[in-house]
Amino acid sequence: MAKTDLVARLVGVLGREKILTDKEDLMCYAYDATADMPRRLPDVMVSPRTTGEVAEVVKLAGEFNVPVYPRGSATNLSGGTIPGSGGIVLSTLEMNKILEVDPENLTATVQPGVIIQDLNDAVAPYGLIYPPDPGSVTTATMGGSVAECSGGLRGLKYGVTKHYVMGLEVVLANGKVIRAGGKTVKNVTAYDLVKLFTGSEGTLGIITEITVKLIPAPEARRSMLAVFDDMDGAARTITGIISNKVIPATLEIMDNTTIRTVVNYARVGLPVDAAAVLLIEVDGIPEVVAKEAEVVARVCRENGGALQVAQDDTERDRVWTARRAALPALAQLSPTTIVEDATVPRSRIPEMLKALQEIAARHRLTIGTYGHAGDGNLHPTIVTDERNPDEMERVHRAVDEIFETAIRLGGTLSGEHGIGIAKKKYLEWELGPDGVEVLQRIKSALDPAGILNPGKIVG
Ligand SMILES: Cc1cc2nc3c(=O)[nH]c(=O)nc-3n(C[C@H](O)[C@H](O)[C@H](O)COP(=O)(O)OP(=O)(O)OC[C@H]3O[C@@H](n4cnc5c(N)ncnc54)[C@H](O)[C@@H]3O)c2cc1C
Repeated sequence: MAKTDLVARLVGVLGREKILTDKEDLMCYAYDATADMPRRLPDVMVSPRTTGEVAEVVKLAGEFNVPVYPRGSATNLSGGTIPGSGGIVLSTLEMNKILEVDPENLTATVQPGVIIQDLNDAVAPYGLIYPPDPGSVTTATMGGSVAECSGGLRGLKYGVTKHYVMGLEVVLANGKVIRAGGKTVKNVTAYDLVKLFTGSEGTLGIITEITVKLIPAPEARRSMLAVFDDMDGAARTITGIISNKVIPATLEIMDNTTIRTVVNYARVGLPVDAAAVLLIEVDGIPEVVAKEAEVVARVCRENGGALQVAQDDTERDRVWTARRAALPALAQLSPTTIVEDATVPRSRIPEMLKALQEIAARHRLTIGTYGHAGDGNLHPTIVTDERNPDEMERVHRAVDEIFETAIRLGGTLSGEHGIGIAKKKYLEWELGPDGVEVLQRIKSALDPAGILNPGKIVG
């Protein structure tokens, strides 16, 4: 059956206005936020509004034996939404309803296209928050962040997306719809399907409804900026704060390359000569916040850090604007920005930071490093130009070495950005061939024809 037949059947399900087939329109769906990836056009882009429509699209994909690529806001950084040749891109952006906020059970139920920040705005009047907050929080969808198991700036104290997903509705590769989990805190009914689909990157099913846990908003918070003239002092402070039994909500680092770039980009007034800054926020009840802030200040001083404490919301916003500007600022430096998220146990951060500097020098590359230092999740960001083959060869060698180092230090390929296309080739380094085979078996059990987001993780 031809593409025109498929499109005609999709029109029958969704209506003409929910389908794009022109090349100019489809170009927008050939890429996501990931650099250095293949660019291939899908055959068609569809925007279903209901679970039933998603199920019909998936059934048609099965019948025509074409792939389906689920897509939220396409901010992922591992090539997760990039189509192979042809197929259907399924955008969830029109499934954007907050279905319920339940202040008694402390849950919210949403469609997958809801933007994370919109959920937080909706629960704020109840004095609640949904903690996972990737840097892309104002753009990324709930569906994309669940499928990616996103982390974010508050991961150290509050955990990541998988710690908040309680229930899911999922359209399987055969078009059947299942529900797993729900609003109960306890649920050990058989295998944990909620966890299986969380972080599955659209390769096992299409998430059409999500129930998440909410928590009370902290009463007080204090943001601090610690300035270091050597990287070792910053690294020792990260481990020192936590070994002094303070778990900040946020403990972020920016190295000198990142600081300079952010200052030029966002005019936020950071010290451009500093080797590194730590951006720290403690939160909770006021007495605890005051006590924890004192401990943070002491540890910073002991390690040679100069501390500035935000005195009001404007100063607090300045600190976090600086941090959120890190990736966009580095991205302005050159045409291609390659962001990695190799993650190491916190105690190995000093070694990882040193290794990153050596890798940059060895391969003559500019690498800006920033990230969620408190949970060992650094984002070494290589600014380069994919039109320069010599430099790209050095970039690829550097990326290999970054992952080798992370694994050698007892870490992982990905703290939060997922595997997608970008890190597929490294999977065996972490899981071994037998581990990868388990992934392949799960994939073929749930998607035997391989129509769901093929080419990602193991498909
Ligand atoms: C500036 C910037 C900062 C970022 N900061 C962070 C950060 O701090 N922490 C972090 O973890 N990530 C971060 N990211 C990465 C990214 O934003 C997150 O992973 C994000 O949550 C993805 O959401 P999305 O809607 O863009 O998903 P998409 O990119 O559209 O999709 C992500 C994956 O999920 C699949 N998918 C999408 N919707 C569904 C669905 N309904 N069902 C099944 N599969 C689906 C896609 O096929 C793809 O594999 C950042 C990205 C940018 C550009």
